[in-house]
Amino acid sequence: MEHNTAAPRLTDVGYIRQLLERHGFTFSKKLGQNFLINPSVCPRMAEACGATPDTGVLEIGPGVGVLTRELALRAGKVVAIELDDRLPPVLAETLAGQDNAHVVWGDCLKLNLPALIQEEFGNRPVAVCANLPYYITSPIIMHLLESRLPVTNITVMVQKEAAQRLCAAPGTRQAGAVTLAVAYYAEAEMLFTVSRGSFMPAPNVDSAVIRLTVRQQPPCAVQDEKVMFRLIRAGFGQRRKTLLNSLTGAGYSKEQLSAALATAGIAPTARAEELTLEQYAALANALL
Ligand code: SAM
Repeated sequence: MEHNTAAPRLTDVGYIRQLLERHGFTFSKKLGQNFLINPSVCPRMAEACGATPDTGVLEIGPGVGVLTRELALRAGKVVAIELDDRLPPVLAETLAGQDNAHVVWGDCLKLNLPALIQEEFGNRPVAVCANLPYYITSPIIMHLLESRLPVTNITVMVQKEAAQRLCAAPGTRQAGAVTLAVAYYAEAEMLFTVSRGSFMPAPNVDSAVIRLTVRQQPPCAVQDEKVMFRLIRAGFGQRRKTLLNSLTGAGYSKEQLSAALATAGIAPTARAEELTLEQYAALANALL
């Protein structure tokens, strides 16, 4: 009798259809379920996050496990967090035999990630690698960075436009509040783009893989981060206005702002998108 010991063909549309049908699974738009079917993407992502036998990888949203398997082939251990409770039986099948990978059920925004990482990976270097659900890309990225997770990098697939914004140089037109926030915690790089046809079902937009290499030290000296982030949010909240006008939204008088802008060496006519992170830090320090 012939046994089929080959790994499940998780980028084969026919196989996935049959697998999902057998489990009575239908895609949830609400959970951002677009599964990767382009065979070259997951190996590239797994390589890009630096997975080796000495490292651990935290994945968010494994779906049917297409990226999980590629990570497990390279990393010492893989832990994948999945919110959809219809997927356990599917993943039990697709990850069978992959003893260094397991799934934690829950919402990645609600789990205690620092504790989970400590418990699962101990002192191993850890990377985050994921094809993120697009409806919560920025909240997830900010949650990971703000929790100051002990991870080396966050290598994720996001919508192409989000990738461009996240990786824009602060001080340019493409930058947004999230660009500055990410730049404070990490060095962002655009790695490669992925067409919409690489997914099942195909979304209406193209995607890109980015890598955020987490900084060991902040890139600028700021005395109170909260003040700096409040200024960034207020400035970009009204990005067409001059900082002198938009920053009153952060609770400062025009007199205070005028003096602080002068101390920080910033023109009062400057707009939010024209400032670098260092300039926001200088302004925050001048307002203390
Ligand atoms: N990794 C798979 C792939 O590349 O084919 C699936 C990626 S799909 C874009 C996003 C996955 O994230 C889905 O499996 C979805 O159920 C899961 N998900 C959505 N919201 C989540 C959350 N808050 N926490 C954990 N997983 C979530």
